[in-house]
Amino acid sequence: MPNQPRDAQAEEHMEFLLTLRRRGIGDQAVLRAMDEVPRGQFVEPEFAERAYADHALPIECGQTISQPYVVAYMTEQLALRPHHRVLEVGTGSGYQAAVLSRLAREVVSIERYRTLAEQARVRLRALGYDNVEVVTGDGFAGVPGKAPYDRIIVTAAAEQVPQTLIDQLGDDGVMILPLGPHGGSQHIIKLTKSQTGIARENLIAVRFVPLLPGQAQEL
Ligand code: SAH
Repeated sequence: MPNQPRDAQAEEHMEFLLTLRRRGIGDQAVLRAMDEVPRGQFVEPEFAERAYADHALPIECGQTISQPYVVAYMTEQLALRPHHRVLEVGTGSGYQAAVLSRLAREVVSIERYRTLAEQARVRLRALGYDNVEVVTGDGFAGVPGKAPYDRIIVTAAAEQVPQTLIDQLGDDGVMILPLGPHGGSQHIIKLTKSQTGIARENLIAVRFVPLLPGQAQEL
């Protein structure tokens, strides 16, 4: 927001946090992470003025940076602890990965578009989020070399729960993902792994871009 006076920027930022609180985000550590990570650095320059509004925005490769409320909500549901290792499927802009990196020890994030993965890698490095590793590849396969994970977050909508990802979740692990038909009614699902099996909770209604198989051939 280079053209906005400083006061307007501060006010906008305050409004950003207030909206998250008003919508029910109560975890102070999550709010602090949302406060710290500059969303304006993760959107395309043409959308910089709308970076702190509570909307998803388009990014390259026909994808989107998720709505701040949904980022905060999914992060809160993960109940992250400072020693946790997290896998994110769907790096996109790298924004969600940056938020996770403030709350966990290590974040591995996988993206099927090489262009997005490379941009996110450069951006995260420039901003100093050095506990995030961005991998290019198919998130359906997870990142087995770094498994097991304490937490897994999928930021594209799956039509079925990918079993490979459940397999990469550690004991007492939690996985959060949007589940439902592409372009249709989707819900955030929370899966908790224990010795007795997988417990499932259905959470809020959402709309995400699809989780697609394979690394993208285009770019
Ligand atoms: N978390 C992102 C939002 C990403 S949108 C952010 O904070 O900006 C969802 C992303 O998932 C898109 O970039 C899309 O390319 C990616 N994606 C979809 N299917 C995938 C798959 N199978 N493996 C890895 N990434 C995938």
